[in-house]
Amino acid sequence: MSADTMKDIVALCKRRGFIFPASDIYGGINGFWDYGPLGVELKNNLRDRWWKDMVVTPPIGPDGAPIEIVGVDSSIIQNPRCWEASGHVGGFNDPMVDCKESKKRYRADHVFVLIPKDGQGTSFAFDKDAEQSDIESRLKKFAKGKSASDFEKEMLDKVPAKMFASIIGPDAKEPGTLTEPRQFNMMFHTYVGAAAGDENKAYLRPETCAGIFLNFKNVVDSSRTRVPFGIAQIGKAFRNEVTPRNFIFRSREFEQMELEWFCEEEEVPMWFDFWVEQRTKFWEAVGIPKAELHFLDVAKEDLAHYSSRTIDVEYRFPFAAPGFDELEGIAHRGSFDLTQHEQFSGTKLEYFDQAANKRFTPHVIEPSTGLTRGVLALICQAYTVDESRPSGVYLNFQPGMAPKKAAILPLTAKEEHVPLAQKLYMDLREDFAVDLDIKQNIGKRYARQDEIGTPYCFTVDNDTISDQTVTVRDRNTMAQNRIHMDKVKEFVKDRIR
Ligand code: ATP
Repeated sequence: MSADTMKDIVALCKRRGFIFPASDIYGGINGFWDYGPLGVELKNNLRDRWWKDMVVTPPIGPDGAPIEIVGVDSSIIQNPRCWEASGHVGGFNDPMVDCKESKKRYRADHVFVLIPKDGQGTSFAFDKDAEQSDIESRLKKFAKGKSASDFEKEMLDKVPAKMFASIIGPDAKEPGTLTEPRQFNMMFHTYVGAAAGDENKAYLRPETCAGIFLNFKNVVDSSRTRVPFGIAQIGKAFRNEVTPRNFIFRSREFEQMELEWFCEEEEVPMWFDFWVEQRTKFWEAVGIPKAELHFLDVAKEDLAHYSSRTIDVEYRFPFAAPGFDELEGIAHRGSFDLTQHEQFSGTKLEYFDQAANKRFTPHVIEPSTGLTRGVLALICQAYTVDESRPSGVYLNFQPGMAPKKAAILPLTAKEEHVPLAQKLYMDLREDFAVDLDIKQNIGKRYARQDEIGTPYCFTVDNDTISDQTVTVRDRNTMAQNRIHMDKVKEFVKDRIR
C-alpha cells in the first residue's frame, strides 16, 4: 500500500457514498468531512459495537465477574474554567512553522530535517510521511552528490533556531524561508450569548473526556457505581489542527470514543494491562488483525503532562506503511483530572469507599480512540485490489461492520423473480440492513456490492420458482452455492455475530 492507494480509497469513498468533503459544492473546507449513506452506516456500526462492548455488556474482569461501566452524553460547550483546569487553555498547543515561499503551514513535530553530518551546506526538510523514493530523488537533485547517509535526521521542533537559515522547507526551493516555531492553541472558540466579549468566550471541546470528569460526582451520587468502574462517552471533538491531512485521519471536527476507568492507585498496573488486552481484542473483532497493529510504549519525554504511562495502539495506515500511526491511546492519567477540577471548581471530587470507610481520589486509565479514525482503519484494512473481478477492488469488511449485510437480487427484472426477491427482502430487513437491487445486469450489481463491501448476495432465479432455493454469492471468494430461502436469515445471522 502506498500514497496512491490512499488516493484510490478516497476516490472510492466518494464514488460509492461513504465520505464526501464537507461543503463539497463550495469547494470544500479543509479538515472537515461529511459521511454519506454508507459511511454513516459504517460509522454507526463501529460506534454501536464499542458502546455494546463497553456499556451494554462490559468485559469480564480479572476476578471473573463482569466489570461495571456506565455511559454519559455531555455538552460540547462547557464552562470555560473547565479548560483552564484541564490545561487546555494554557497548554493545548502545537508548534507551527510557516513557509514564506510556499505559503504553507506545518506542524514542526511533523516535519523532519536532514542536516549534513559535516555541518557544511544546506539542510532539507520533509514531511514525516514522505516516501523514501521522493527523499532520495530530491537529495540527488539538490544535495550536490550527497546521499541520505551523509545526513543526520532531526525533527524540526528540535532543531536550534539559529540553524533555520540553512533549511530548505518541504515545498520550497530556497533555504531560510521557514519561520521559527510558534505555539498555536488548537481549541476552537466561540461566544455564548449576544455580547462577543472575553467574559463570554467559550470553547468547543477538544476531547470528550472532560465531560466525564465533570460528571464524576453526579454519576457516583445518582447511581450505584462503586470503584472500580468506568464512565464512557462517544461524541464530537474539535481541534483547529495546523495541518489536517491524510483524509479523515487528522480532521478539525471528528468523533471520539473514550472510557475513563476509575480505580485505586495500587491496582493501576493490573487494570492498565487489562485494558490494553481488551482494546486489542476489540480491534481484532471488528476486522483489524493484530499483525497490523503496533503497541508503542510512549517514551517518558513524549508523555502528556498528566500521564505517567501511555501505550499508543498504532495501525499500519497506508500513508504510514511500512510504519504505523496512532489509532488509540491508552493512558494512565493518575488523579490529575479529578484533582484539577476539584481545585478549580471548589467542589470535592473524592470517592468515599463505604466498605473500607476511606476517602480517596481514584486514579484513571483512559482508552481513548477516534471513531472517525477507526472508520478510516476499517476502510483501509478492507480495501482489497482484485484485478480478476469487474470492480477491480472490493471492501473486505468484517460482516458485522459492513454497511449492508446482504443484497437481494432478482436475476432479471422478470415478473416471476421480483416478487420472490421482494418477499425475501421484506423478511430480512426486519433484522439487518439489506439492499434490494433490481435494475442493471447481474454482473454490474455484484460489482457494486463488492465495492461497498456487502458480504453476501442472494440471487433469485428460475430455480427459486420451482424449489425456493436462492444462490448465495460470497463477496471474498465469489463462490456461489444454493440455499433454501427459509435458511437465509439464519445464514446471515450466524456470520455477522
Ligand atoms: P496527535 O498527537 O496525533 O495530534 P493526540 O495524541 O493528541 O494526537 P489524543 O488526544 O490522544 O490524540 O486523542 C485520542 C484519539 O482521538 C486519537 O488516538 C485519535 O484516534 C483521535 N484523534 C485525535 N485527534 C484527531 C484528529 N484531529 N482527527 C481525527 N481523530 C483524532
